[in-house]
Amino acid sequence: MAVVNRLLRSTATPSSSILSKTFSSITSNTDRRPLSPLSHSALHLRRDPKDRNVQWVFLGCPGVGKGTYASRLTALLGVPHIATGDLVREELASSGPLASQLSEIVNQGKLVSDEIIINLLSKRLEAGESKGETGFILDGFPRTIRQAEILEDVTDIDLVVNLKLNEEALLAKCLGRRICSECGGNYNVACIDIKGENGSPGMYMAPLLPPPHCASKLITRSDDTEAVVKERLRIYNEMSLPVEDFYRSRGKLLEFDLPGGIPESWPKLLQALNLDYHEDKQSAAA
Ligand code: AMP
Repeated sequence: MAVVNRLLRSTATPSSSILSKTFSSITSNTDRRPLSPLSHSALHLRRDPKDRNVQWVFLGCPGVGKGTYASRLTALLGVPHIATGDLVREELASSGPLASQLSEIVNQGKLVSDEIIINLLSKRLEAGESKGETGFILDGFPRTIRQAEILEDVTDIDLVVNLKLNEEALLAKCLGRRICSECGGNYNVACIDIKGENGSPGMYMAPLLPPPHCASKLITRSDDTEAVVKERLRIYNEMSLPVEDFYRSRGKLLEFDLPGGIPESWPKLLQALNLDYHEDKQSAAA
């Protein structure tokens, strides 16, 4: 059932929207007491899509590949991939009233305020619901305990996938990230080859090179410089690691250590999610 409808039911305020609900959650909890959680259904990874579309969250450090794997899964599951980082970048590109404030925050590697991010997410969810979208995979949200509490207050999350990679690989992946300025395709020019040491396994990730028609149009994200990536990693550890604990304590967290690049990781991720998808095996190796 649609998030907004579920929200209306759970709040019994027929005129409210997810936007007003989330804002009332913020404003009515200025003392930062925990919000009272709704009851949660048990985690069913084999949920029948006819029942209700999945409502999943992808957690993980900057550069881990949340966007890559979330967008592949949304294609399989028929739900939208909603990345709050993309919403922030769209707002930046629109040169709207928030743009200069956001650009300063993003380019320093800091987090945007919970209020702004929830406003952007609420608008995106409402726009999707009006087009008939149901379910979602959220990528990059929640990033603070406060965001997790608000999300919990408005809907049930079925599953939280926590993607993990070591810090050396994360930094190399962020620095190697390239985006096609025309089609928005995501590529990576880094060839990551970390030797195993003292019993810890090595890791190889081949570059994900663009097709020829994108190669001359590649740009980098302004926040993918070494100093800013290090700050984003620091902020992740400070603000977002507690979100992992939040979901772990609710039995919703699926930990997934990426074993390598897409060809090695994608089939294993599908297996961990109990998803069988044979036709896609070929494209996973692309
Ligand atoms: P990302 O593409 O997920 O790395 O996000 C890019 C930037 O957008 C982050 O460094 C933050 O400044 C901002 N951002 C994205 N999602 C959130 C969030 N949930 N909370 C606060 N800031 C966010």
